[in-house]
Amino acid sequence: MRKLKRIISATLASMLALSTFTACKDVVNYIPNEKIEGSSLYVKKVEDLPDDFILGMDASSVIAEEQSGVKYYNFNGEEQDVFRTLAESGVNYIRVRVWNDPYDENGNGYGGGNNDVEKAVEIGKRATKYGMKLLVNFHYSDFWADPAKQMVPKAWKGMDIETKKQALYEYTRDSLTKLKEAKVDVGMVQIGNETNGAMCGETIWFNIQQLMQEGSRAIREIFPEALVAVHFANPEKVTNYTSYASKLAYYNIDYDVFASSYYPYWHGTRENLSSLLSGIATTYNKKVMVMETSYAYTGEDTDFSGNTIGDGSVVTKEYPYTVQGQANSVRNVIDTVAHTTGGIGVVYWEGTWITVGTSSWEENSAKWEKYGSGWASSYASGYDPNDAGKYYGGCAVDNQAFFDAEGKPLESLKVFNLVKYGNEVEPKADAIEDVNLTVDLNGTIVLPEKVNAIMTDDSKQSIPVEWKVTESELQAMYTGGVKKYEITGTAGGMAAHCYISMVEYNFITNYSFEEGETGWTLTSLGNMNEFYIEDKVTDSLTGNKHVHFWSAATSSVEFTVEQQVNGLPSGKYKYSISIMGGDCGETDIYSFVKIDGEIVKTQALSINGYGNWDTALISDVEYTEGQTIVVGIYVKCSGSGNGAWGKIDDALLNSQK
Ligand code: CA
Repeated sequence: MRKLKRIISATLASMLALSTFTACKDVVNYIPNEKIEGSSLYVKKVEDLPDDFILGMDASSVIAEEQSGVKYYNFNGEEQDVFRTLAESGVNYIRVRVWNDPYDENGNGYGGGNNDVEKAVEIGKRATKYGMKLLVNFHYSDFWADPAKQMVPKAWKGMDIETKKQALYEYTRDSLTKLKEAKVDVGMVQIGNETNGAMCGETIWFNIQQLMQEGSRAIREIFPEALVAVHFANPEKVTNYTSYASKLAYYNIDYDVFASSYYPYWHGTRENLSSLLSGIATTYNKKVMVMETSYAYTGEDTDFSGNTIGDGSVVTKEYPYTVQGQANSVRNVIDTVAHTTGGIGVVYWEGTWITVGTSSWEENSAKWEKYGSGWASSYASGYDPNDAGKYYGGCAVDNQAFFDAEGKPLESLKVFNLVKYGNEVEPKADAIEDVNLTVDLNGTIVLPEKVNAIMTDDSKQSIPVEWKVTESELQAMYTGGVKKYEITGTAGGMAAHCYISMVEYNFITNYSFEEGETGWTLTSLGNMNEFYIEDKVTDSLTGNKHVHFWSAATSSVEFTVEQQVNGLPSGKYKYSISIMGGDCGETDIYSFVKIDGEIVKTQALSINGYGNWDTALISDVEYTEGQTIVVGIYVKCSGSGNGAWGKIDDALLNSQK
């Protein structure tokens, strides 16, 4: 029975394919096949870029944006369909996410564009109209699916795997049929989004692979010409990827493209990405691509709802947050994938998602709630209580869009065209590289006289800087304790930033034993069962590692842990170290400072049970350059009960006024 059904739908599919082909004749291709002239954007040509290389844009939120009143313009300042502007700039693929049912029981949208299949049809029709293919991204959830969550659609909750398989197959088939009937030019379909070990509420691969297989089967049936893609995130975790790829092969999943997210500020180096993807492409004979990437054109938020990266965020910042920096990031990701074995394309994530208003959070919030143009509305709370329920709000990537807050396209959008031809205009200074200083509270702040200007071609030039700071402001930093400050300045007419971290500089190497015994000498003076650097976060004062000791026999614990500190400037110092443990009986424990072989100061410590760290502080150590200084701890325990045990961590040697 089912077999018969399959034959019928295959015939139907080929008939529909024919009608799509006929319709294509009416489609005007807005994607330029020559270079866009006159751009001020610096773009180094990507050599040997194939004509059919996918230069994609995820534009899932466009309809919700337009419903919220957002207008998009072309490069002449005229209002124009954003899909046409994308095509005219070289984008040849539009990606759209599809959620099964992103609405609550009263029909209120969850947000994030309220992207159900009807929205995908509308977006797909507009993409097709301007000559771009559609990449359909099934999350197989009612809301966001990513490495942190893969929630099952409401209607499929509680289904056993056999029933869920059938539901997923039918849902995929029916959704794609709607796209086919609307004559949408579907080029690729994803079976799941960032499915790092979970999908559709399933968390074991034996079940996940069965669902993927059903999704793939439906895609092959309805769009036999389309590519089937799987999609994962976090390529910086190399072994995870090789494991995913081998599981897909083991279960014989029918797919064409192994795709990865690559956010350069989170996901490791391009070299790592390339070697990982080319390895998978070669081993399993698959195509590979970057399914999501993005970069900030400004550090500022424009919609009153915080962004994933921007001013003040602590991430790897390879390029300045400028229009040119954004273009350089995208160009380099395209270059990387184009020169990776099996590499077929790069899709930018949500370059059209901008602020829905300019006056206030209240103005925007009303639109996010009503039209779903924020990342989540309050109506998502029931389905996603722990994330959307707590943090619902606006757009977190408006500063990574290719349109400014008014809907005007940024020059960087032309990168999709210019990568093919190159546009190596005269490089000029684009931004000033941040300066980061770490200064000992007892040291001296030395502000640099020159800073690096980052050029539009991503090279650097050292230029003079003038800092805006008074002597009394600098003095206040010395007396303000451990704290971070920002000083601004001007270099080449641009703003410069110097971040100063005032710290208590620790002169001890490997102070928290995270690098094992490096720098330390562990000397056993007794007959202990265990005495080593242990890797156990719950038993560490900070970090993951510490010195561990344990001995069953009475009076067998006796040892020293010490370090000779080299390169110490003359001055006054304080030294501390911490211990915890139990069952130690009578103890003789003290920290010490030795100068030229003589113990000059000690401080006693005691053992007080699990988690009760005792810290010994030795102050007023006078040191003169040329002397030999050793700091350490001596431990002797008589033992009781289950045997003496303990942990030692965090040695600090700081200068003292
Ligand atoms: Ca924002």
